[in-house]
Amino acid sequence: MNYPEPELDDLYRELILDHYRHPRNRGTLERRSAHVEGYNPLCGDEVEVDLLVDPEGTIEEVAFKGRGCSISQASSSMMTEAIKGRSRRQALDLMNAFKSMMTNPEAEPAEELGDLEAFQGVGRFAVRVKCATLAWNALQEGLENGAASE
Ligand code: ZN
Repeated sequence: MNYPEPELDDLYRELILDHYRHPRNRGTLERRSAHVEGYNPLCGDEVEVDLLVDPEGTIEEVAFKGRGCSISQASSSMMTEAIKGRSRRQALDLMNAFKSMMTNPEAEPAEELGDLEAFQGVGRFAVRVKCATLAWNALQEGLENGAASE
């Protein structure tokens, strides 16, 4: 497939490529409270997210594996870094902030997004938005339906 590459700020492009080449929290968890698989048919991206949420609702551990375009994999990597150690509520707030940045890329991104702001330019390419949100959708599913341990 031959979609146009989003034009991203150089610094942000570097950050995304760094996470694509050196993904953080890559792998699977032995102990986990949720396992979610996501697929983006538009681009062929795949991601699997493992979560370990403690009884108080803190995300103790998170890991992902997957394959696909740089945006989908870098977004997964940065998502895991952003939510590790946070509460379920904080992680969902972050997800909502990320998604509103995608649907409204001309607006000032929420400050709590930090480096995740790197994906703001992706929001201008409707076809790539699903690449950037794939891991976040998996996270949402894991947090909302993942109460039962395996
Ligand atoms: Zn993609």
